[in-house]
This record gives sequence, C-alpha cells and structure tokens, in this order.
Amino acid sequence: MPKEKNKLLPSVADTIPVKHSSRIILSQSALHANIKFLRKQIGGKPIISLVVKANAYGHGMQQIVPMAEACGIEHFFVSSSYEAYEVRQTQTQNNTIVIMGILYDRDLPWIIQNNIEFFIFDLQKLRKAISVAKKVDRPTRVHLELETGGNRTGLPTKKLSQAVALIRKNKRHIRFSGLCTHLAGAEALANKFRIVRQIKEFDRITAQLKKRRTKPQLIHMANSSAALSLPKTTRDLVRIGVSAYGFWPSPDIYNLHLMRINKTRDNPLKRVLTWKTNIMHIKSVKKDEFIGYSTSYQATRKMKIAVIPVGYANGYPREMSNKGHVLIRGKKARITGLINMNLFMVDVTKIPGAKIGDEVVLIGRQNNNIITVSSFSEFSSALNTEFLSRLPTTIPRSVG
Ligand SMILES: *Cc1c(COP(=O)(O)O)cnc(C)c1O
Repeated sequence: MPKEKNKLLPSVADTIPVKHSSRIILSQSALHANIKFLRKQIGGKPIISLVVKANAYGHGMQQIVPMAEACGIEHFFVSSSYEAYEVRQTQTQNNTIVIMGILYDRDLPWIIQNNIEFFIFDLQKLRKAISVAKKVDRPTRVHLELETGGNRTGLPTKKLSQAVALIRKNKRHIRFSGLCTHLAGAEALANKFRIVRQIKEFDRITAQLKKRRTKPQLIHMANSSAALSLPKTTRDLVRIGVSAYGFWPSPDIYNLHLMRINKTRDNPLKRVLTWKTNIMHIKSVKKDEFIGYSTSYQATRKMKIAVIPVGYANGYPREMSNKGHVLIRGKKARITGLINMNLFMVDVTKIPGAKIGDEVVLIGRQNNNIITVSSFSEFSSALNTEFLSRLPTTIPRSVG
C-alpha cells in the first residue's frame, strides 16, 4: 500500500476530537462600556474591583481577567483559593486578588507566598494565618469581614477586640488590608430597612476601630446593587460582579436609574456574552406526530423541525422545555418538546431555507432579534447569575 497513507495515519490518530457542541463569544467593547458607565455612576474615588467567582459568572475566567485588565481593572475578588490560582495563571499584570469564601489551611502557605488576600470571619483562621506567615516569613494580608446583620459569614462583633489585638500584636506578620461587610439583598427596595441597619452597624464598628488607632488599608461593602443605588456605601472600593457583565441586579435598581435620568428607557449596560451553536439535523414531522421524548409536544400541522446539539448537560436549562426560542436566519424558532441531555428541537416551519449547519443563537442577537439572558429567568425560577454561572467550563470561549 502507498507509503503516504501510512504517514498520515499517526497524525490523524493524534487529533483530539471536537469536545464541544456550542461556543461562547465575549465582547471586549461591551465590558469596556459597562466599566466606563459604572465608573461614571460611582464617581472617581473608589477602586473598582471585579468579582470573578464562578468562572467569572460563567463567562470564562481565562478570557475575562485579561479583558478586564484591558479596561484598567487591577483588583479581583474570588470565592476560593483555586479561583485565586486561576486569576494568577491568566493575569498579564500584577493584580490584587481577594478570596471571599472557603480557604483550606493547606492552601495558606501558597496564599501567603503569593500575596493573595482573604476574608477573615473567625479567629481560628486568623491565628492559623499568622502562624503560617511566621513560618514562610512573609506577611499575611487579611480583610476583616464584619457581621453587621447579614448572618452569613462575618466576624461576630464580640470577637472583634481579640482580632484587633492579634493584628496589633503581630504587626510584622500581618497586613490589615481591608475592613468590610456584605449587604443582605441591596438589590430589593423591600430589604432597605435591613440594609440601612447594616450600614449603621458597620459605621459604628468602624468608628470604634478608629478610636483604637487600627486602620485598615481599604474599607468596602458595596456590590453592584449598593454601588448603583446607595452612594454612601461605595467607600474605598466596590466589589462589582453582575453589572460589569451587563446585567441590572434587579428591576428595582434599573427603575431607580430611569427615575434618576428621568427617562423611560436607557440601556448603558451591555451584555458581554453571546452563545451560539449550529443546526445538527433537520426533519419533517407529520401532523399529529409527537416530537422527541414523551407526549409533551404534538405537531398541530406538518412541521419542519431543527435539532440543536445542546441540552441540559451543556447548560441549557430543562425548564425551557416547550418554552423559549432560539434564533435562526434572524428569526425566532420556538422550542418544541423537552430539552434532552444533549439536544433539543425547534420549529423552523416558517424559516425558509433553514438547513443543517446554520448558525443558531442561544443567547444574543441575530439581525433584529435578541434572545436575552433574562428570558431564561422568566421561564424558570433561576436568576440571571444562576443560569450564567452554570454554563459548563467545557464550552469554548473566545473574545470577539
Ligand atoms: C458575589 C459578591 C459580590 C458581587 O455581587 P454583584 O451583585 O454580582 O455585584 C460582592 N460581594 C460579595 C461578598 C459577593 O459574594
């Protein structure tokens, strides 16, 4: 047999098969516009830190970190030490990184040696961090997260004296990088009575600390909602997540914005993410036939159906069964039947020319139509952030 064929075989065998069935495209200009808008709203002084927990709210940590750096962001919040590691791996400049959530003791040497900062909400962790800092001969950098009424994490007020004493006693081994709290639901006006109490409590404790001449480098409490609706919460730094990715935290916050600018419509926040795939298969279905599993969809007429190679295993919520749409050739195609593990069907009867390989927009714009992320939340009980943060990491992300 010809030699050439044999030569080709090994390289073909080495090829890794296509792993994914859809793709995510991220818009640098949208992220830029959002950060510019937020900076304008918040004013010049506070540092804008980007919260990139949960794979940057599902957008893709590897892409979002350099994109944010290009917008002038130098400060990031994550929820775990592995996420801090991911930021360090992808960053192109020396950023400040703060862990807000779980931090296992075994990670402390790495955390401290890499100048990574973290929230302290119990004395045990503080003592452990100091002892590791002594061992590795490098200061540990901590943010005291105060309990102010959120009753989630947060150092109880009665432990504060001890924490401060530990910080003062171990000056050489510790940097008091921040003093902070988290507001319990600043996105809803209905929670305002709680938020106001938290702010008061935070200010009371901060004043107490001042008297003891223990000064944190940064004071912070605001997330997107607080930063957009309660200017007095912005302090030295704001922890911005959802709004940087182009979403209003809630209708309340959006309506407040409209009231302020005295308009009925304005959309300065741009969606950063677009999600696409292609038609995998097309078929005709006779009237009265059922489509896909079960009897949940019966053709009311002769129909043309397109099969989409994305299912709940790929992050497409099963709650969208028989609801919602995708875009094909600029037109809305309705979901017919159940969302399966790796595929679902849509009605393309009224989309002339729809064929295998056509681009399908799952989230985003095609010609004059848009599928929004909030359309997913309308059909299910999921929050925008819940749906986004569940987009599998295996979907390839690119910057467009
Ligand atoms: C997630 C998170 C934020 C960011 O909140 P957004 O509403 O997305 O801006 C801020 N602070 C803490 C403690 C968080 O966990």
